[in-house]
Amino acid sequence: MREVKFFPAELGLSGWLETSSYKTHKFNQTEEILDRYDYVVVGCGYGGYAAALRFAELNPAAKVAIFEAIRIGNNDSGKNAGFLIDVPHAFGSDDSTLEDKKWCVQLNVATLNKMRKIIKDHELPVDWDDCGKYLAAYEPSAYKYLDHEAKDLDDVGVPYSYVEHEELTQKLGTRYYKKALFNPGTAMVNPADVLRGMCTVLPENVHVFEDTPVLRIEDGTEPLVILTNGRRVRCKAVVVTAGPFLEEFDLSKHQFCPVISFAGLSRQLDEREMTYFKDVHPWGVTAAHSGGTTVRFTRDNRLLVRNGLKYATYFTCSPERIRRSRKMLRKAFNNRFPNHKHVNFEYVWAGMIHLTMNSKPVFGRRGNIFYSGVGEGAGVAKSFTMGTYHAEWANGIDSDVLEYLKNDKKPSWLPPSKLLTTLGAETRLIWETVTAKGEI
Ligand SMILES: Cc1cc2nc3c(=O)[nH]c(=O)nc-3n(C[C@H](O)[C@H](O)[C@H](O)COP(=O)(O)OP(=O)(O)OC[C@H]3O[C@@H](n4cnc5c(N)ncnc54)[C@H](O)[C@@H]3O)c2cc1C
Repeated sequence: MREVKFFPAELGLSGWLETSSYKTHKFNQTEEILDRYDYVVVGCGYGGYAAALRFAELNPAAKVAIFEAIRIGNNDSGKNAGFLIDVPHAFGSDDSTLEDKKWCVQLNVATLNKMRKIIKDHELPVDWDDCGKYLAAYEPSAYKYLDHEAKDLDDVGVPYSYVEHEELTQKLGTRYYKKALFNPGTAMVNPADVLRGMCTVLPENVHVFEDTPVLRIEDGTEPLVILTNGRRVRCKAVVVTAGPFLEEFDLSKHQFCPVISFAGLSRQLDEREMTYFKDVHPWGVTAAHSGGTTVRFTRDNRLLVRNGLKYATYFTCSPERIRRSRKMLRKAFNNRFPNHKHVNFEYVWAGMIHLTMNSKPVFGRRGNIFYSGVGEGAGVAKSFTMGTYHAEWANGIDSDVLEYLKNDKKPSWLPPSKLLTTLGAETRLIWETVTAKGEI
């Protein structure tokens, strides 16, 4: 396989990592890297974490290594909005069947329960709140999206309720939204805190190396993993969960549409500012329109806004573009919290959502190299599930779930020309932003 040319970068200062109690945890040092492991995992997002965990569960005597290019938690798995979702807003491509929808919910719920168990068993003091989520609308014209979501929830038998008017204002501490759909099955987390926290209690036979990029993987009965620091590691099988960077390993082509989005996390509100949130519990709102703003009120009394969509032709984003994102983040913040216009963002960062045209994931195998990428905006639970089942696949364990993942629809193809893809994607993203109107 070819050498990787584009590597992940830490785009801005992630408020989730900075406020995580595991921020300074020391994982394994590069001097400890062995020449040989039984299993190697490339990328430590939720997908890579889950693969390593499952390898260790299935083979307590095996040696497992994770190589992560940047700091764990400063990757997209740690920089997202922190909605651990049981039912995503859109179920992949429009031709998803009811059976697809049921699979999706069943797998997401199983994954969330597995994460809850890990956290409980190890008594990890991570920022996790089973407070559910709101899909909320400002414009009456967006109510139709709530009804569409309600139909999906009905189809899969998941409970929900509509919340409106004064009740909604009391729950959120803002009068901005007019109507919302509340779904109790979603957890709100600090995603960097949860990921890093869980990595600290991986079984001892898993060695975790951050800031250790992989340069190249050579296929073969025993694949060879070559690191940028020159170390060469042999193993029985490799799992690559590198998000859109799968393309860099030649494991995917013309499938991912990497989209940058921006987030701002405020400083902690003081006692006087908190009077506007009297009796308000932590919450999370996703916008009824897919181009809209995601908002959270966190357990440590901060406000998060996430918006803006920009196609990332070369998987990155300049510091100048991150600086400019403040304007739209600030506007969304001020509209929702007019009494807190003076409250600064303590952290602003960018993250990359790796979408596919039909929201279908990449999940495959080439010899002893297993690879996946989620393809949708709410991908934490799905990437965790795929990581788990890669480890089972590599260990020859067959199951209905594995068969489903192998046979799920594939991503539709993007045009081979970068120019055409960029133009097409930028036009679509501008359209999403313009039509979102007051949902931004
Ligand atoms: C702003 C934003 C908001 C989001 N909000 C949500 C949300 O609320 N809920 C939700 O479920 N999902 C959300 N998502 C999507 C979610 O973050 C992703 O679907 C999920 O993190 C994918 O996990 P992953 O492990 O597959 O990939 P990633 O998290 O991208 O992990 C891949 C890892 O591979 C590493 N890597 C790449 N190349 C190399 C290399 N050469 N060597 C070593 N390592 C390498 C990367 O550094 C990275 O850590 C959001 C995404 C963004 C950007």
